[in-house]
Amino acid sequence: MMADWQQFYKRSWSERVDILVNNQQLTNAEQDLIKENYNYIGEQQIENYIYNFGVPTGLLLNLPVDGKKVIVPMATEEPSVIAAANNGARIMRQGTGVQTKFSKHLMRGQILLVHVADVRALSNYVREHERSLLQCANDAHPSMAKRGGGAKEILIETMDDSTVAVNVLVDTKEAMGANTVNTMAEAVAAKLRQQGYEVLMAILSNYGTESLITAEVAIPVAALATKQGLAGEEVAQKIALASHMETLSPHRAVTANKGILNGIEAVVLASGNDTRAVNAALHAYAAHDGQYQGLICWQVVADQLIGTTTMPMSVGVVGGSIGIVPAVKLNHHIMGEPTSTELASIIVATGLAQNLAALRALVSTGIQAGHMALQAKSLAVQVGAQAGEIDRLVAKLNAAPKMDATSAKKLLQELRE
Ligand code: NDP
Repeated sequence: MMADWQQFYKRSWSERVDILVNNQQLTNAEQDLIKENYNYIGEQQIENYIYNFGVPTGLLLNLPVDGKKVIVPMATEEPSVIAAANNGARIMRQGTGVQTKFSKHLMRGQILLVHVADVRALSNYVREHERSLLQCANDAHPSMAKRGGGAKEILIETMDDSTVAVNVLVDTKEAMGANTVNTMAEAVAAKLRQQGYEVLMAILSNYGTESLITAEVAIPVAALATKQGLAGEEVAQKIALASHMETLSPHRAVTANKGILNGIEAVVLASGNDTRAVNAALHAYAAHDGQYQGLICWQVVADQLIGTTTMPMSVGVVGGSIGIVPAVKLNHHIMGEPTSTELASIIVATGLAQNLAALRALVSTGIQAGHMALQAKSLAVQVGAQAGEIDRLVAKLNAAPKMDATSAKKLLQELRE
């Protein structure tokens, strides 16, 4: 008999599991998997909770950023990401390391008004009442102002003849600030409604244009030489050409940025931050001057390869899941308890390391050599190799002319004979 999915969210965890098991006819092994991965914190975090889905977490070692060498936990399922980031960091350590700078660190709350009869009158009202509107925002979350943060500025943005955004810029200190800013934006929205304005909605903007971080790294070209005999100067020039290509072709730029996000997203996730918020902001910024481009620029200057980037980066070290998930707390401890701006710098520096390693491989040996060497482990597991067999099968796969499931199965069989 089909169990009832109705009111699923109101059921206890064990009732939900029973319903799921009955409806989807889960096997005993599948039921065990759910039970082994139950976590009471997960149950507090989301609705309709069933079990915690694990993501492998590994370390990026000694990432050189702002004069420190940071140990960075990365959570990712993609086999080559952490190896590549370490490779990039190793090369970056031979140069200046990454230097970063925030211009300001504010989060934008948008109060979106429609059918505004007189945009100028609205502008005048906001300008004349800026102080009281800021006070209204701060009264909605007074502790943020008490710690030196809170609502700082109001910007008017006219979208068309009758559509206007009243933007409240908030310093959310050590938090990413989505909830804080939403609370403040709703308070200001209520005040504008009292003045007769039609507020369609009030919500933060994830496009962190008031939270831009710039980063630069200089690497001696000699450090880029490859084992296959390519000179560092040649590799550096090719990396610069590849970077230029990302300004010309969005097809190439999207893939380059996906590679940068391999690193960035892994650190954002491991640090308990919102991966979707960071992704959305980065892709929007990649198109900020009209054409989607690569987020990082590489140029050769004298005997140095210089990497530069500007990225919006709104992350926190408190709030959201950060204080409640033990693995996230552990990851912050491993990183040395960075502040929110230090964490943003670590994340951007990881993107630089990731991009450097990917471009160096692409313009020299090609990306597949490194990828497939690491893919071999996943392939071995996929075809059923057990713990004691994996390393031997990987060695055979790496020496084989083809690396695919058919050859992996055949090699596993040979190994077992
Ligand atoms: P929280 O709502 O958890 O707020 C963080 C809280 O931490 C602050 O409000 C503050 O509360 C407290 N805090 C303690 N110490 C500090 C400090 N030094 N600096 C700043 N705050 C401190 O999280 P956020 O507001 O940061 O929101 C992030 C979460 O919101 C994420 O989980 C995200 O996924 C989610 N979210 C994202 C959206 C988006 O991106 N569009 C939309 C909605 C939610 P107090 O002042 O009371 O001490």
